[in-house]
Amino acid sequence: MAPITKQYDYIVIGGGSGGSGTARRASGWYGAKTCIIDAGVSGGTCVNVGCVPKKMTWNFASINETIKAGKHYGYNFDNGYSFDFKSFVEKRDARIKVLNGAYENNWAKEGIELIHGTATFVNEHELEVTPKHGGDPFRVTAPHITIATGSFPTKPENIPGSEYGITSDEFFLIKHLPKTMVFVGAGYIAVELAGVMNALGVETHLFIRHNTFLRKFDPMIQETMTQHYEDLGVHVHRNHPGIKEVVPVQAAADASDPREKQLKIISNDGTELITNELLWAIGRGPEIRGLGVDKIPVKRTKSGHIAVDKYQNTSVEGVYALGDVTGQAELTPVAIAAGRQLGNRLFGPPELKDSHLEYDKIPSVVFSHPEVGSTGLTEPEAIEKYGKDKVKVYRTRFSAMYYDVFPPEEKKKEPTEFKLVTILPDEKIVGLHILGKGCDEMLQGFGVAVKMGATKKDFDSCVAIHPTSAEELVTLR
Ligand SMILES: Cc1cc2nc3c(=O)[nH]c(=O)nc-3n(C[C@H](O)[C@H](O)[C@H](O)COP(=O)(O)OP(=O)(O)OC[C@H]3O[C@@H](n4cnc5c(N)ncnc54)[C@H](O)[C@@H]3O)c2cc1C
Repeated sequence: MAPITKQYDYIVIGGGSGGSGTARRASGWYGAKTCIIDAGVSGGTCVNVGCVPKKMTWNFASINETIKAGKHYGYNFDNGYSFDFKSFVEKRDARIKVLNGAYENNWAKEGIELIHGTATFVNEHELEVTPKHGGDPFRVTAPHITIATGSFPTKPENIPGSEYGITSDEFFLIKHLPKTMVFVGAGYIAVELAGVMNALGVETHLFIRHNTFLRKFDPMIQETMTQHYEDLGVHVHRNHPGIKEVVPVQAAADASDPREKQLKIISNDGTELITNELLWAIGRGPEIRGLGVDKIPVKRTKSGHIAVDKYQNTSVEGVYALGDVTGQAELTPVAIAAGRQLGNRLFGPPELKDSHLEYDKIPSVVFSHPEVGSTGLTEPEAIEKYGKDKVKVYRTRFSAMYYDVFPPEEKKKEPTEFKLVTILPDEKIVGLHILGKGCDEMLQGFGVAVKMGATKKDFDSCVAIHPTSAEELVTLR
C-alpha cells in the first residue's frame, strides 16, 4: 500500500474551471494548505476542448460570414479570397498553451500545489495518486476533498461502428476541413460545431431525433433557429430515425486531416450517406471513471452524476462535488462560482458559513449563427409553474439594421427575435430569450436585471440606446 506522503487542509481533484475556482478561493484568499490533482491538462475542458477553442473557432467562422456580408456593402471580392484553417488552428493551440501556463502560474502564486496525476479514493479522506509522468503511486489526505472532475463526451454503445466517429474532444484536433461532416445531436454543442463547419463551407449534416434542436430552450428559439440553419444551408435531418450502423470505407492518415476519411452512415430507415467525418454530440457523462467513488458511500443521481445539496455537500461528510460531475447547469462560470462559494464556506470567516450558489436565472449563450441568449424560464416552464392566466409574453421579430443592404430575399432570412416572459400582476420578468446578431454580448447586462427581479415597467423606464437591436427589449409592446 502506498504510504501517505502529504497532508493538506484541502484537496481538489480536477484543475478545470470549478477545481481552479475553489482552490484559488481556499488558498489565495484564506490561506488553506491546498493542492490540485489533475490527470489531464491544466484548465480542464473549458480551456482545452470547450469554451475557449470553440469560441475562437466561432470567431474564425464569423469572419467568413462577415466577408460574405461585405459583398452586399460594396466590398469587392472579384479576385476571391482564401483562408488557412491550419494556421488558424496553430494560433488557437498556441493561445491555449498560454492559458495552461496562466492557470499554473496563478496557482503557484496563490500557494496551491499542483500534482499531475490521477486521484483515486482509498477512503473518505485519503486518495491514492498515480503520477502522470511516471513514478510510484503515493497517498494524500485532507479533512476536505472536492471532486471537480468534470464530464466526458459519450458515443453510443449499441451502434456498430460508432467508434469510427469522433466527439467534440477530437473536433479540436482537426486542422484540415473535411468536405462533408455529419453531426448527431440537438444540444448546444452539436448546433455550435455544425454552425461553424457550415459557415466555413463544409457540407454539413445535422441529425436530430425531433423536429427542432436546442430543445431545452424556449420554443421560439428552437423553431426559428432550426429553420434558420436550413436557410443557411445546413442539411438538418429532422425527426431522424437514428443511425443503424457506421461502416468505415476509408481511414484517414491522421486525426487532424479527415479529408480522405470516408464513413458510410446507414440509418434505421435504410438511407445511406457517405461522409468524411461523423461527430457524436449526444451527451456527456460524469467523469468518475477510475475515481474510486465506489470506495466511499457517495450517493449518485439517476443519471450517474454525484448527488449534492445546495452547499455542494455529497452524502459523505468532508467530501464535496461541483461542476459538470454533478450535472448541475454544465457551464464554466457555474463551476467557478460554485467552487468559490464552497471555498468561502469551508475556509472563510463565520459570516460566509452559509455561502452557496443560487442555481436559478443563470444566463447562457449558444454560439450558433446567429447567437442565442437565454435566462430564466421558457414560456412553457412559466405556464407550468404559474398557470396560463398569470403568464404574459412579449415578443418581437425584426430584421437588424446590419442586414438593410442585403438583397430582400436574403434579408428576410436573417432573424432577430426577442421574448420576455412575465408574471402578472406586476409583470415581473421570469424569462428572457433572444436570438440575433450580437445577442451573446447583449445578454449579460439583461441577465443582471432579470436576476435582480426587474419588471416590464423597469425595462420600459430605461431609455433605449439607438440604433441597436437591444433597444427593442426596452420598447416591447
Ligand atoms: C465543446 C464544448 C463547448 C463548451 N462551451 C462552453 C461555453 O461556451 N461556455 C460555458 O460556460 N461552458 C462551455 N462548455 C462547458 C464547460 O467547458 C464545462 O461546464 C466546464 O469546463 C466544467 O468545469 P469542471 O471544473 O466541472 O470540469 P472540467 O473543466 O472538465 O475539469 C475537470 C478536470 O478534472 C480532471 N480529472 C478528471 N478525473 C480526474 C481524476 N480521477 N484525477 C485527477 N484529475 C481528474 C480532468 O483532467 C480535468 O482537467 C463547453 C463544453 C464543451 C465540451
